[in-house]
Amino acid sequence: MTYDDNNIFAKISRGEAPSFKVFEDEYSLAFMDVMPQVEGHTLVIPKDKAVDLLDCDAEILGHTMVTVQNVAAAVKAAFVCPGIMIAQLNGEAAGQTVFHLHFHVMPRFSGIEFKMHAKGMEDFSKLQRHADLIKEQL
Ligand code: 5GP
Repeated sequence: MTYDDNNIFAKISRGEAPSFKVFEDEYSLAFMDVMPQVEGHTLVIPKDKAVDLLDCDAEILGHTMVTVQNVAAAVKAAFVCPGIMIAQLNGEAAGQTVFHLHFHVMPRFSGIEFKMHAKGMEDFSKLQRHADLIKEQL
């Protein structure tokens, strides 16, 4: 698949679409998922025109994984969750819906099921509060 410069994460990365940002550096960006499957659901993307994991520049991917690790630690501390799930989907057949590589960082609690994937927009003031909680831990 060819990378589409107008996908929503490309626009967020360029600052052309709004997001509840928690972290940004030269290589990567982290922001709240607007349709979270669980409170604290955060996305980390590389600043690379990569459709998926297989398409990403290895150096940018390496830096992005450090961001995933740091953001996961911050989400874990902010939401005081015993578990943290990192998910990453490659291709429509795998369930990918936005074709710019991204990592899902999601708090997990025993017995609490996830909400549906990419369904149900969260209240924006709540997302801002959650972004602030995570930023405090970074
Ligand atoms: P995928 O299905 O590609 O692994 O995940 C895409 C994710 O992007 C979903 O969890 C969905 O809720 C999220 N998403 C879709 N559109 C937007 C958007 O405009 N802003 C943000 N922050 N997240 C989005």
